[in-house]
Amino acid sequence: MKWAVISTWKMSYEGNLQASDILKNQGNAEEAVLRGIGIVEDDPSFHSVGYSGLPDIEGHVRMDAGFMHGRTLSFGAVGALEGFRSPVQVAHKLAERPTNNFLVGEGAAEYARKHGFEERDNLTDDSYQRYLEESGKLKPLSAYKGHDTVGFVALDRNGDLVSATSTSGLFLKDKGRLGDSPVIGCGFYADNEAGAAAATGLGEDIAKGVLCYQVCTLMKNGYSAQSAASQVVSDLTRSLTKRREHCDSISLICMDKEGNIGVGTNIPFAFVCADDTHPAQLYLAEPAEGDTRITLISATEISGID
Ligand code: ASP
Repeated sequence: MKWAVISTWKMSYEGNLQASDILKNQGNAEEAVLRGIGIVEDDPSFHSVGYSGLPDIEGHVRMDAGFMHGRTLSFGAVGALEGFRSPVQVAHKLAERPTNNFLVGEGAAEYARKHGFEERDNLTDDSYQRYLEESGKLKPLSAYKGHDTVGFVALDRNGDLVSATSTSGLFLKDKGRLGDSPVIGCGFYADNEAGAAAATGLGEDIAKGVLCYQVCTLMKNGYSAQSAASQVVSDLTRSLTKRREHCDSISLICMDKEGNIGVGTNIPFAFVCADDTHPAQLYLAEPAEGDTRITLISATEISGID
């Protein structure tokens, strides 16, 4: 059976390579997405996830993550979690329980501590310096440039779909602010009978469309992954622009139960995907009149892409 993995932004490239290796060697989708996201959480050169994530208004790196398994529909999530190496690992552990799957703040930290998750101060000199530079010049919340969620969606050879996310959320967000990334149906969703998805962009706008659940519902009803992704993003963008005169950046990756991928976006958006027929490659998706234009990024163009 086919395997496939898709992930958000160029920062996920190395993680996608490692996730692909796991899937290629008969590993499962769960291990693959956790490995892929873990690589990004540990890399201080990415300022929107894990180590060296950008802080909230109080100067604390408070992180959000979500995990969902498409076979059981089990999900786990953490919000505003501070001081741990891998929020997505904690979200994954929370998915084992029948209840109390979504924990935030001190409750999430207590749970992580009790279960022995590695602690780490994710505020680095570099991220604190950016905080000092920007915190004096507050603007209305917007998706800060380069401030993105890592999302992975994978299908393994057993036919299991998994989706997961991890982010430090918006730079200079209010204490306690949650975006879409830890919210089931908004930032992530997986259902073996429909498909799986993960989102990135301004959480408050993504949540208005409950995008990941919506795109899975369309796939369940027979839409191809690509037409479902293009449709939900362009519909929500149109609807918010009409009613509120503005829609912030929204991007979505998804996969159907056969491993076909779809991407919807209202901004230029880089993503990585691999399957049993080709290795991890970086692509650029751009909105194109209700549809999505997707181009392969050549090695010489890679340095110009976020
Ligand atoms: N969705 C994230 C949030 O709103 C940020 C992002 O993906 O850019 O927290």
